[in-house]
Amino acid sequence: MTENYDVIIIGSGAGGGTLAYDLADSGKRILLLERGDFLPRELENWDAKPVFVEGKYISKDAWFDRDGKQFQPQVHYFVGGATKLYGAALYRLRPQDFGEIKHADGISPAWPLSYDDFEPWYSKAEQLYHVHGNAGEDPTEGPHSEPYPWPAVSHEPRLQQISDDLAQGGYRPFHAPCGIMLNEADRPRSICIRCATCDGYPCMVHAKADADVVAVRPLLGRPNVTLLTGAEVTRLETDESGRTVTAVVVSRDGNREVYTGDIVAISAGAANSAKILLNSATGRHPNGLANGSDQVGRNYMFHNCKAVAALSKERNDTVFQKTLGINDFYFATKDYEYPMGNIQMVGKSNAEAMRGEQPQLTWFAPEWGLDDTAKHSVDFWLTTEDLPVPENRVTTDKDGNVHLTVTMTNNAEADHLYEELKKILNHTGMAAHHVFRKNFYMDMAIPLAGCAHQAGTCRFGTDPATSVLDTDCKAHELDNLYVVDTSFFPSIGAVNPALTAMANALRVGDHLRQRLA
Ligand SMILES: Cc1cc2nc3c(=O)[nH]c(=O)nc-3n(C[C@H](O)[C@H](O)[C@H](O)COP(=O)(O)OP(=O)(O)OC[C@H]3O[C@@H](n4cnc5c(N)ncnc54)[C@H](O)[C@@H]3O)c2cc1C
Ligand code: SF4
Repeated sequence: MTENYDVIIIGSGAGGGTLAYDLADSGKRILLLERGDFLPRELENWDAKPVFVEGKYISKDAWFDRDGKQFQPQVHYFVGGATKLYGAALYRLRPQDFGEIKHADGISPAWPLSYDDFEPWYSKAEQLYHVHGNAGEDPTEGPHSEPYPWPAVSHEPRLQQISDDLAQGGYRPFHAPCGIMLNEADRPRSICIRCATCDGYPCMVHAKADADVVAVRPLLGRPNVTLLTGAEVTRLETDESGRTVTAVVVSRDGNREVYTGDIVAISAGAANSAKILLNSATGRHPNGLANGSDQVGRNYMFHNCKAVAALSKERNDTVFQKTLGINDFYFATKDYEYPMGNIQMVGKSNAEAMRGEQPQLTWFAPEWGLDDTAKHSVDFWLTTEDLPVPENRVTTDKDGNVHLTVTMTNNAEADHLYEELKKILNHTGMAAHHVFRKNFYMDMAIPLAGCAHQAGTCRFGTDPATSVLDTDCKAHELDNLYVVDTSFFPSIGAVNPALTAMANALRVGDHLRQRLA
């Protein structure tokens, strides 16, 4: 007979890791079940070839597309989840993102809570995840009750010049919020060394504020917290009434294990959380657990993104490039009636990662080798909001495998954003015809890369007929089941999702503390 826990948390990423951290000092007995292991610290952490070309840290999981064709999703099963590899761009959603927004392809629905409801939790999450930023610079950002805990990461000279040129051209560039443990005032004692292998790489020196380093490791050794790695949750079982989860079934080292807890919080990532619920169908829940509304797995979102490289004759010797953001096109403008989204920087190109782009690149400067080309590129990441379409969904087959059906929305907005980027680059000496789309940051083919910003498969709301979770992120149909990863998003905005998942986990943690008191 195994011990009964007060809370079982499934998945240790942005949502689950943060919730475990938050609940740990309540003294309640917490079991954290993580499918992966700790990501090994090794030289390959900072080597583009194993990371980008060979996909060393991408799960071997097989998912299937709408045609039943198998693909390897870009998901990362480690303690800390996707945050181990993330770019740590830790943005708040804009206040308007919590309301209804009209887009080219439809409506981005309102959240049941407002920016003001989330604001205190954003502030707490920014403290926990060491966010560096300058409040007030980004014209679209909502009010902060507390300043960022760290000053913004400074621009290196090429980026400072681009920022100055853009400001000169009438735009409002800002320092991007970033969760790295860099102390620029005391570099000798700074944990972060400000290197070029951050965005998309694991941090070898554990200076990235990821959920493993910030949330889970500090709990190791606590008597009331148990972390089990290599523990893949396969299904949840309920009592006769169907209202209470009574068992969490785990596959570990090839064995079936069963754990029990008073509260169960799923945070396995938007696709995998839906997978667990759908694979937990019973007579009481024939469409899957918590799925009387038929919403589990639906409304999958992942952002309409483009990675873009701009080449100029001028060298770009920037090491840590992810310091600049541009939100002048986040909403509709006088020239275009729909929101376009966010422009930010992506990790600096290097020759190894650019290998697959060679034909396009050599067209610009045939005499250049890949090294030269990489040294001259300035690399942007464009994010447009995609919509929660019911047909964009995760389903599972009879063997429990994930099937992902996705049709991209708001392509016209994304194309407009790309055109705006080309225009603004004219202010920076990088003429429009030197800008091209690149794929090497991550494979942009849909749905493969569609997993990095996955969200929305168990949206929260006030109406059980149209949502899976209530506003505390508890399943409407169950008394002790919560979902705390990005699944709860009713819409995704056009900024990176992790800080919202972290803030929400702290918010739900507060609710659970009161419930368990
Ligand atoms: C390359 C990359 C770059 C990114 N950059 C940024 C960025 O700069 N800013 C930003 O905001 N976001 C970024 N993201 C996205 C961000 O990492 C995610 O939005 C965030 O981690 C999602 O949190 P989550 O809790 O929903 O899922 P995750 O963090 O992925 O956590 C899910 C956890 O559940 C575990 N798990 C899965 N299935 C099971 C199971 N059956 N049983 C037990 N455990 C299970 C997984 O191993 C994982 O640890 C990036 C993502 C990637 C991949
Ligand atoms: S820039 Fe800092 S946080 Fe990022 S990988 Fe390098 S040392 Fe780690």
